[in-house]
Order: sequence, then C-alpha cells, then structure tokens
Amino acid sequence: MKNYLIILIALITISCKKEIKEKSGNEKLRVVTTTSQVTDLVKALAGDKVILEGLMGAGVDPHLYKASEGDVTKFYNADVIFYSGLHLEGKLEDVFEKMRHQGKNTIAVSDAISKADLISSADFASSYDPHFWFSIPQWKKVTEYVAGELSKLDAKNATVYTDNAKKYIEKLTALEKNNTAQLEVLPKEKRILVTAHDAFAYFGKAYNFQVVSLQGLSTATEAGVQDVQRISSFIIEHNIKAVFIESSVPVRTVEALQAAVKAKNHQVEIGGTLYSDALGNPDAVEGTYIGMYAYNMKTIVNALK
Ligand SMILES: [Zn+2]
Repeated sequence: MKNYLIILIALITISCKKEIKEKSGNEKLRVVTTTSQVTDLVKALAGDKVILEGLMGAGVDPHLYKASEGDVTKFYNADVIFYSGLHLEGKLEDVFEKMRHQGKNTIAVSDAISKADLISSADFASSYDPHFWFSIPQWKKVTEYVAGELSKLDAKNATVYTDNAKKYIEKLTALEKNNTAQLEVLPKEKRILVTAHDAFAYFGKAYNFQVVSLQGLSTATEAGVQDVQRISSFIIEHNIKAVFIESSVPVRTVEALQAAVKAKNHQVEIGGTLYSDALGNPDAVEGTYIGMYAYNMKTIVNALK
C-alpha cells in the first residue's frame, strides 16, 4: 500500500500543473469526481457546461477503491477534483491531500458541513461518520458549496450554477416532504434498519430509525461470527421482518445473518437492495441521488410495514 501511494504521488507530482487558471472563452472546465453521489450533483449543477469524469460507477465501494493509472491521467487533466471526504475514499484521500499541497484543486465536498452537524465516530479514521449525504439538509449545504466552487473556477457560467443549485435545492425539499409522507405508515417500533455496513446513521437520525449493521463504518473490516450471532438474536428479540443488502457490498454477510436467524428457528426476509455508498445504474431512476433516496425509502417502508 505504501509503495503504491509513493508511486502514485510521484506520478502526480510530475504531472501536476502548478497553477489553476480561470477558464475563458469556450473552454470548458474539466471536472473529476469520485463517488456517484458527487458525480450526480455536479451533473445536476453543471449539465453540459463542464467536461465531467466520474470515477466510481454503480455498485462501486468507495471505501476500497484504488486509483488506477488511467485515473492518474484523469487527475492530471482535471481543473478540479471533487471528492466526498472524511476518509470515505480511504485509499484516495492521502493522494488528494498531497495533490492539494502541490497546487492541484482538490475539494472535499464534506468541507461544506460544520463539525457540529456531523456524527462523531471515535474509531473511524476521520473521527466522523462519512455517510453524510443521507442527511438531506447537509446535502443542500453541499449543493451550495459545490455551486460556489464551480462559479469561482468558471465565472462565465456562475449564474447557471447558482440557478441550478436553487432548483436542485427545491427538488431536495420536495424529496424530504415525500419521505416524511411515506413514513407515516411505519410506527416507531418498526423503524429498525438492519444493513450490511454502517452507512445509515444520518438516515436514522433524520427519520427516527434505530440502525444496526454487521460491518462498521468502513467495509474494509469484515463482520465476525460474533457480530452475526449478536445481531441475529437482536432480530428475533425485536421481531424484525426484514434486513437489507447494499448494492456496493457483497451479499454474503447479510445472507449469513439470515441463515443464523433460521438456525434459531425464526425467519427474516431480505427486504431488498439499498443504495448506500453508490447510486444505481445511470440510466435507471436510482442512478440519481434523488431517485436513489426515494427508491431506498420505498424499499424500506414496503419491507418493514
Ligand atoms: Zn460506507
């Protein structure tokens, strides 16, 4: 890992442009993004005003993602790199920090959020839970922040970014209303969300769910037999109807959990696939942040009601 980082940083040092020039004329801003959530946001704000390259597609786990040589070329060509931050991209964050020191414009969108609005986590690398996009109020702040950064770098299109941010925030408000309306059928005692890894704490906080997961905040650590046993007992004790798999995490841990419940002569369903750290296919409704959130909500309510 260390050697890999040194080589990668060396490559970037050689290739990094020292100065970021403001775009002029018809030249389009070149933007590289990491997670599909961040890619979708830039797409919503910028449309065809920028040349956008998203690194991580559907089903890709950002905790484990390593930059390829092709990615390094994309970093080299980029005017700006937007990433999620708070160590979500565990194997890229050091690279981005170093690139920033060398004059490359690398922006963690999590910088938009004040520390008081983040969920602390003593045992995670950044000391905070990095899955903040599930807080819609915080995602609105990220929207304004990204629009502001795009406007600074590409002043000729600033009004486009600002107008699009305003429209997007209105859509996020509509999403919040829809979420609250859907949840009316789900009483407090049924609001227990069991998933593969700990991506839903912000969701739980927003919508009053108890959140239980097999793996921690990162997928880098596998669930142990003890975790499976403990959570299977919890499921039986609380009479939980369904547990959920995640599109970016292998299904085996949740299947092991289901088997453990069965071994104790009880049943728990797999309630469906949730999109946690990656959106769905770009051509599907779940391929956008708003579509993803609505899909997750519908899946959760249908399985637990
Ligand atoms: Zn995660």
